[in-house]
Amino acid sequence: MRIDLHTHSTASDGTDRPAGVVAAAARAGLDVVALTDHDTTAGWAEAATAAAEHGVTLVRGAEVSCSHRGTSIHLLSYLHDPAHPGLAAEMEKARESREHRAERMVERIAGDFPRLTWDVVQACTAPGATLGRPHIADALVRLDYFPTRDAVFAEVLHDRSPYYVAHYAPDPVTAVTLVREAGGVPVFAHPLASNRGRVVGDDVVEAMVEAGLGGLEVDHRDHDRDAREHLRSLARRWDLVVTGASDYHGAGKENRLGENVTAPDELERLLDQAVGAAVVAPG
Ligand code: AMP
Ligand code: FE
Ligand code: FE
Ligand code: ZN
Repeated sequence: MRIDLHTHSTASDGTDRPAGVVAAAARAGLDVVALTDHDTTAGWAEAATAAAEHGVTLVRGAEVSCSHRGTSIHLLSYLHDPAHPGLAAEMEKARESREHRAERMVERIAGDFPRLTWDVVQACTAPGATLGRPHIADALVRLDYFPTRDAVFAEVLHDRSPYYVAHYAPDPVTAVTLVREAGGVPVFAHPLASNRGRVVGDDVVEAMVEAGLGGLEVDHRDHDRDAREHLRSLARRWDLVVTGASDYHGAGKENRLGENVTAPDELERLLDQAVGAAVVAPG
């Protein structure tokens, strides 16, 4: 069993449509794939239809943006009820704030890269998608200012850049509580991905555990060996599910489907806790 529990589609900042992510998962030899777009479940229906067609089991999820005292962190939510009002409202609020934030970042960046306009960013964004910095990156690549998303992040979009603007996001304890209320399983995404920006200390993880955190994403390309070892020790201490995943974004990032995977018994422990939505099994 090959299980990849973290991917993105055009419903957020991936470049494959939801059905395309599922088809690519089948081609990559995965048995189980989770679709976890940023702050949205808009890709669930299309992915579910594709899962039945391609013989892949689909775990429906989302990656909920959170902010701990200004540090941006991500919470994976698996199999929550998408109609739960509290959780849906927080994700909606984050999506709306992301729009304003992106407009303000584009204004700032356009001061130095004058061909960048809001129209170009929109041309790089699927209708209804959760807007993120990657869409601004795609616009700057399309305009030939930079060769890749990565290059734009390194120079213009990183979180210490003068162009950076934060967006609204709930604190992680609130988010964990809401995911559980919605019947989902909350898993802290890439908790020690320090190459992307600031990370939080173990005290924050402990507060999330007290609120009902279910797991830690340990095997992720942004974690070195020491980070993985430390996270495994935390998972043992607090009896948390350990996951591994690619964080696939299609052509937008080098991450390949299945490059990190989750053990079948860990998936089973995760599914045992999920009561908000069902897995979509093939056939
Ligand atoms: P945002 O959601 O707007 O804060 O942007 C964060 C997203 O940007 C993440 O989900 C990644 O998909 C992407 N990202 C973050 N750092 C990088 C990087 N160095 N290179 C490419 N993409 C990145
Ligand atoms: Fe992303
Ligand atoms: Fe993330
Ligand atoms: Zn992600």
